[in-house]
Amino acid sequence: MFDTDLYQQVLSLSAAWRVADVKLDIESTQIHVHVEHAEGSQWACPRCQKKLACYDHAPERTWRHRNTCQFQTLAHARISRVECPEHGVVQVKVP
Ligand SMILES: [Zn+2]
Repeated sequence: MFDTDLYQQVLSLSAAWRVADVKLDIESTQIHVHVEHAEGSQWACPRCQKKLACYDHAPERTWRHRNTCQFQTLAHARISRVECPEHGVVQVKVP
């Protein structure tokens, strides 16, 4: 029913992220967009900007996005963490 490419545009995601799944909940008038990052992506340490491979993932977070029609849009994603030699394991910045 929903085009994941469309939501890629709607949420203005950077190339590292892709929409994995879009679910419509008619009863609660919510749209749940599940976002994943591409395999093998490199992430910048939020403190020194050094590019690092994904170390692990923080627990899933949910962001409220502006509504699509009358539906409340909620984006769900597990944010990557990187292990920086200087700053340790840190969570990357989210677009
Ligand atoms: Zn760092």
